[in-house]
Amino acid sequence: MSDITRVGVIGSGLMGSGIAEVCARAGLDVTVREVGDKAAKTGRERIERSLSRGVKAGKLTDSARHAVLSRITVTTDLAALDDRDLVIEAATENPQVKKELFAEVDKVVKRADAILATNTSSIPIIEVARATTRPGQVLGLHFFNPVPVQKLVEVIPSILTPAETAERATGFVTSVLGKTAVAAPDRSGFVVNALLVPYLLSAIRMLEAGHVSAADIDTGMELGCAHPMGPLKLSDLIGLDTLQSVAESLYAEYAQPTYAPPPLLRRMTAAGLHGRKSGRGFYDYQEQR
Ligand code: NAD
Repeated sequence: MSDITRVGVIGSGLMGSGIAEVCARAGLDVTVREVGDKAAKTGRERIERSLSRGVKAGKLTDSARHAVLSRITVTTDLAALDDRDLVIEAATENPQVKKELFAEVDKVVKRADAILATNTSSIPIIEVARATTRPGQVLGLHFFNPVPVQKLVEVIPSILTPAETAERATGFVTSVLGKTAVAAPDRSGFVVNALLVPYLLSAIRMLEAGHVSAADIDTGMELGCAHPMGPLKLSDLIGLDTLQSVAESLYAEYAQPTYAPPPLLRRMTAAGLHGRKSGRGFYDYQEQR
């Protein structure tokens, strides 16, 4: 069994809130760190809404929902992560933000063999590892959206992560969280996003060319290829700001046009049209908010 019982999560956006929820549902004590009171409140509400959906769907009882919530503390104080066995960083996809966070987390977390993980989709693990004094304790744990639903976690050791650390992390995500782990290389996009992102960008380029509607692109892939969600709906779910940052990291790594963010994606992100989480992306979600 795992020796990890106290988990820290950094960021309570789409991913951090989901990671906090699955950890608390597994019986772990969870402390979530956000940047400000407003974001912390939004994050806690996101977790509450997700758990309420679980109760409505008959997946957990109301008393279980209360118990899960009682195991989650949301704070703006990074020092509150000092006693954690594992910290999973799920802040904005920005290399500088992540490097600064890892340097700070390194100073705060007391346990020398604590695992410091990043949920980045595309930033090299070694870059965040080198921001700490303990790069051997750093790896990628890449969860998928929505975290309570998606079974996969990519486990990404850097070139400096010993096998024992990767094994401990893999044991945690499989035996404690009940996820399926795949070992992925420390190459931008790892396995899934290296394949998925060029496909999503191609769909955006097709829309930008103006010969076909967003709805027809999505219907085509849903009914023609039995995908549960078409590429533009999926881009909206991921978040267009996050998709653009991931594409930029992939392009920086491989310098291939297939990874370059198309102008339409850049303009939508600049306009604040970040997809489902902002209320509008390729589709309008105002009524669902
Ligand atoms: P998001 O924009 O929904 O949330 C990011 C959160 O991080 C925000 O709430 C923001 O306030 C917070 N934040 C920023 N700086 C912080 C700091 N210094 N300390 C604490 N919190 C901070 O983004 P997201 O979709 O949750 O993505 C988070 C990470 O997960 C990214 O690295 C992203 O690449 C990765 N990821 C995203 C998806 C997806 O589908 N969206 C899937 C897998 C992995």
